[in-house]
Order: sequence, then structure tokens, then C-alpha cells
Amino acid sequence: MSQKYGHFINGAWIEPDSGEYFASTNPANLEHLYDAARGNERDVAKAVEAAEKAYHSNSWANLSQTQRGKLLRRLGDLVGENAEELARFESLDNGKLLREMRGQMANLPDYLYYYAGLADKIQGSQIPTNDLAILNYTQREPLGVVAAITPWNSPLTLTTSKLAPALAAGNTLVIKPSEYTSRTILRFAELATEAGFPDGVVNVVTGFGNEAGSALTDHKAIAKISFTGSTTTGAMIAQKASARFIGTTLELGGKSPNIIFGDANIKNASMGVIAGIFAAAGQTCIAGSRVFAHRSIYDELLERVAERAQSIKIGDPLDEATELGPLAFDQQLEKVRHYVNLGISEGATVYSGGDNANVDLPGYFYAPTVLTDVNNDMNVVREEIFGPVAAIMPFDSEDEVVGLANDTEYGLAAGVWTQNLSLAHRMSRRLEAGTIWVNTYRAMSPMSPRQGFKNSGVGIEHGLESINEYTKLKSVWINTSEEEVGDPFIMRG
Ligand code: NAD
Repeated sequence: MSQKYGHFINGAWIEPDSGEYFASTNPANLEHLYDAARGNERDVAKAVEAAEKAYHSNSWANLSQTQRGKLLRRLGDLVGENAEELARFESLDNGKLLREMRGQMANLPDYLYYYAGLADKIQGSQIPTNDLAILNYTQREPLGVVAAITPWNSPLTLTTSKLAPALAAGNTLVIKPSEYTSRTILRFAELATEAGFPDGVVNVVTGFGNEAGSALTDHKAIAKISFTGSTTTGAMIAQKASARFIGTTLELGGKSPNIIFGDANIKNASMGVIAGIFAAAGQTCIAGSRVFAHRSIYDELLERVAERAQSIKIGDPLDEATELGPLAFDQQLEKVRHYVNLGISEGATVYSGGDNANVDLPGYFYAPTVLTDVNNDMNVVREEIFGPVAAIMPFDSEDEVVGLANDTEYGLAAGVWTQNLSLAHRMSRRLEAGTIWVNTYRAMSPMSPRQGFKNSGVGIEHGLESINEYTKLKSVWINTSEEEVGDPFIMRG
């Protein structure tokens, strides 16, 4: 009999209000994995009520910052102890390589330890005043109940990027994971309870975006929405949040340039191109999907990338030897097919790959694909495909490639490959993206802030700065003078 998961609310498993569940399927072999509760407005209301109660409860509100840090540390330990199970669950759910998910789970405790270390460093400051009798200081306070809405491509890492700073700052949470990857988030909430977080501090309502997701963003008691997902959904959420004057942190889509100059170490650069677009079958927000190669090395780079792409081993993500798994679900595969066909109709050439993944499994596989004869006017170059499709284009000068790279609505990340230090610094300044990688691609750590420029996002994740996303600043004025109050019609300060 297949496993059934309820919502995780107030430290307990709760049956869905409607009694309905939905299936999760393994995208590699199309086998049924488990069923998760189909959340609706009433389930969301229960979860928010539990989170509100927990927010005001003595067991959470009266915990010291040091104690909050200790709980996060304990949760980090538990994630480490359960890393193998979590990695398998994620790989089965979204088809990413077990190897990659093991790597992510091995790093995940560090995210929790980082914010555990920050919990007792959240503080205000004393502000100078011109009226010396006045003491003015600020304090940072939690916001209340935070809604965290997350995608399927790196479910636990992306959820932890929100949960860890939010809890360090003293908030409580209702998480709505992607309908494609409910399981690890539910298990994570269970681990949070085991770590000692009071009931109601971490709640999970599973279900679909237009049901559980929109009910959560509409709920009046939500103090902040932290969202990672597509730019289209992010825009909708931003509108709702602004109408209620609540804050958002939005981590959205991308169409990142990966730029290879003529003097680059071509071997490393071609590996960087492969890592940028074919790792995780291109299903990463930071995918280096637009490759610009200097005309002097264009042919060589294209050959190297295409040759390696053709040798990529496609197959079962649980197999250690596999280098490229399936796309996460049927519409993802259809989207990739649609875009490659659109590219062909716009004049692009499929230089290698295409819809010919030769795999002995019935899942949603698509071969790593290199498109040439492409330019910035084409949809395949302008829109996020979220699949293993690289568009490779030549350029002649620095100014030209800066113009081409910045000619996009997105601004998430960019790669630059050169041995020239001055050029590397110049490019880092000139490129309009929140993360710049020089002679590497896909480097990430909880210590380093991430911000999407342009339509790639609002607000910061990771790093010291992300704590501020989950606090509000209060300014306190104290008159220390015993003297009689003077003229009441004059402001002090
Ligand atoms: P999506 O926008 O379809 O869904 C993301 C989440 O929002 C899911 O939980 C979904 O159920 C929910 N949702 C959907 N409609 C909603 C609504 N009307 N109201 C409330 N919630 C709703 O995105 P996805 O397909 O799950 O993820 C892929 C996208 O995420 C890509 O665009 C990718 O670039 C982006 N992404 C960005 C980052 C980043 O850090 N910038 C990281 C990973 C993924």
C-alpha cells in the first residue's frame, strides 16, 4: 500500500479537510511514490492559526536568542543524521542525481549552523542624538507568521534558506512546498519537532499553488511572504503582498550569461559551460543558458562542449554513474520540447542533442542540447527554458558582450572566463546580475548573500543580510532627564 502523508500542523499529522490526496510520481520510471494531502483554504487557516498561537506562546516568544540558536544547531545535527534518507527522497521526487542531492544534504547542516550562530547576534544599535538627555536605540524584532513557498528543483535547500533566518529571528512559519516535492519538507518539519522547536513553530501545508498556495498568500495573518519560484508566480504574489503592505523576499527565474573570453583556460571554461547548463538537467534558476564565446575560440569551445554533452551518461538518477537524470515532470519535458522546436522555427540549429535521449526508462528524459545560429531576438535566448538547452553565440568585443549579456529581463547570475584580472573586475562591475562567477560556475554558500537583479527577484537570501528580511526595526526614545518638560511645541531629538 502506498504511503500517505497528511499536513504537518502544530507538531502533528493532520488529515486534509477535503479528505483528498494527490500522487507523487518518480519522473525517471513513472512509478507512483506516495500520496500527499491536497491542502485548501481551511487547512491553511489551521496552519496559520497554529503558527500565530506558537508565535505568541511563552515556549517560543520567551526563548532567548541563544536558545533559538541551539535549536537550529540541533536541527542541523538531525539533518546530518538523516541526510541519506533526505537525499533519496529528493532524488526520487524530482529526478535530480542522487549524487547531487547527497552533496546538497551534506551541506545543508551548514546552513542551519550558520543561522544558529547568527541567532544571538541579531541586535539593534545605539543612535547618536543631538539632545544629550535622550537615549535612542533600535531593536530588531521578528515579523510574526512567515509564509514560505518553495519550488521543486532543490526543495530542502531552498526551504532552509528561508526557514533558518526566519527562525533565528524568532518568527514562526507555514511552508507550502511544491506539489512535486512534498516529502522532504514534511520530514524536515518532523525533524524540527524532534529538535525541540515548540509545536506550531514549523508547519507544512501541502498541495497545489492555486489552492493551498494562494490561500496562504491571501491569509490576513501572514506577516511576510518568502517565495522562490517562477517570475510569473512571483509577480502575482508581489501584487497581493503590496496590497496588504506586507514584505516579500522573491527569488525568481533567470537566463544567465556564461561568457568565455579569448584568453580563457578553454578546458576549464568548457567544463564551466557544461556545469552551468547540464548539471541538474538545466533545472536550476542559475543555469548558464546563454553562452557567449569570443569568436577567436568559438569553434573550439563549441566542439568541446558538444563532445562532452554527447558523452553525458543519461539514466536513472539513483545510479552513481548517471550524469543527467530526467526532467522533473511531464510539463517540464513538454516545455523543453516546445522551446527547442520554437528555436528551430526561429532559425536555430540543433548542433547536438535534441529530443533523442536514448534511455531504457519510460521517464521524462531529454538529451543535453546545444543550439547554434541563435541571437538575442529569439525566444530560446530570451525566455527561461529550465532544461538542458544551451544557446551558444559568438562575440567580438567586451562592449558588445556586455550589451548582449545585459539585454535580458533577468539578472540572477553571470559567469566570466578570462585570465585577465582587470577584465574580470571590469566585467564584474558591468554585468547586471546579483551573482558573478569568475573562472567558476554554480558556487554557493550560506555565508554569501544572493540577490536577483531586475525580474530575478527582490530581497536577499543567505549571508548576514538575509536576517534583516525577517525582522522589523523599532526605534526607542528614552528621556533620561529628571528636569521639567520644556516647550511642548518643539520636537526633541
Ligand atoms: P512555480 O512558480 O510554478 O511554483 C513555485 C511554488 O509556488 C510552488 O510551491 C507552487 O505550488 C507555488 N505556487 C504556484 N502558483 C501559486 C499561486 N498562485 N499562489 C501561491 N503559490 C503558488 O515555480 P516552479 O516551477 O516550482 O519552480 C521553477 C522556477 O523557480 C523557475 O523559474 C526557477 O528559475 C525558479 N527558481 C528560482 C530560484 C532562485 O533562487 N532565484 C531558485 C530555484 C528556482
